[in-house]
Amino acid sequence: MAQILDGKKLREKLLADLKQKIDGFQIKPTLVVILVGENPASKIYVNNKKKTAEELGINSQVINYPANISEKELLSKIEELNNDKNVTAILVQLPLPEHISKENVINAIAPAKDVDGFTPYNFGKLFSGEEPTVYPCTPKGILLLLDEYGIKLEGKHVVVVGRSNIVGRPLSQMLLNRNATVTVCHSRSNLDIIKTADVVISAVGKNIIEGEMLKLGSVVVDVGIFKDENGKTRGDVDFESASQVASYISPVPGGVGPMTITSLMLNTVELFEQNLS
Ligand code: NAP
Repeated sequence: MAQILDGKKLREKLLADLKQKIDGFQIKPTLVVILVGENPASKIYVNNKKKTAEELGINSQVINYPANISEKELLSKIEELNNDKNVTAILVQLPLPEHISKENVINAIAPAKDVDGFTPYNFGKLFSGEEPTVYPCTPKGILLLLDEYGIKLEGKHVVVVGRSNIVGRPLSQMLLNRNATVTVCHSRSNLDIIKTADVVISAVGKNIIEGEMLKLGSVVVDVGIFKDENGKTRGDVDFESASQVASYISPVPGGVGPMTITSLMLNTVELFEQNLS
């Protein structure tokens, strides 16, 4: 039976340490989150971010725009926040309405305030093997979780399923930087390769991995999160069968999700400290 990669427990530990650090700051970091429209899932995510920030003593401001805001207006707000010395970190909650270019909006964020690590500057740094200002939150959280359980990545075959800009792509680079041998799969891939993986990290949003697809003793990280036909929260991996084969497995919920928000808080403080120096 696999051991659980407990993201909730690690979140408690890392955030308690972070709170202590923030308590010692005379001026507090400020995280600004921009939310456009009324997407219910986005609202929940933004509220969680605000609540967690406030519990830690991070100033948090949510700017809520109606879905019909123009791209120009949004870009001008970002410009204003870039120039505001009191703002440490800027996060634009995705997805954005279709009439707004996600690329233009992300490009507009100053790399020094890019708390998600999504700007082309930070992505370029990451993909060229250099240190970005901060690392994208979900991949960073996954590596923190693996490190906590002493799971070594050097020389290991890691299969990442999913190639999105928020998870699969940056994660694959971070794994390469850790000297893992990385295979990235997507919707056109033959997933038989999972059988050869020492570590499988799945970020798809569909139930695609069963225990019988895994190598005995492999480590399984389930990033996916969606509601099944009965409204139950599920991950990409069939937990019951996979936990019979894997050595470690992250549950959904309670695995990667808590680590993503933890990373956001860590990144806010990292940006704050970088601005001080
Ligand atoms: P996304 O942008 O929709 O990307 C999904 C990826 O899965 C794509 O690369 C897609 O391939 C691939 N894919 C789709 N069907 C597949 C299949 N049958 N076999 C193999 N690959 C397949 O999604 P995302 O934003 O990365 O998010 C993925 C999941 O992770 C979602 O459930 C999301 O809610 C969750 N998530 C969780 C957290 C967290 O903190 N827990 C954070 C971020 C995301 P193509 O590129 O070929 O289309």
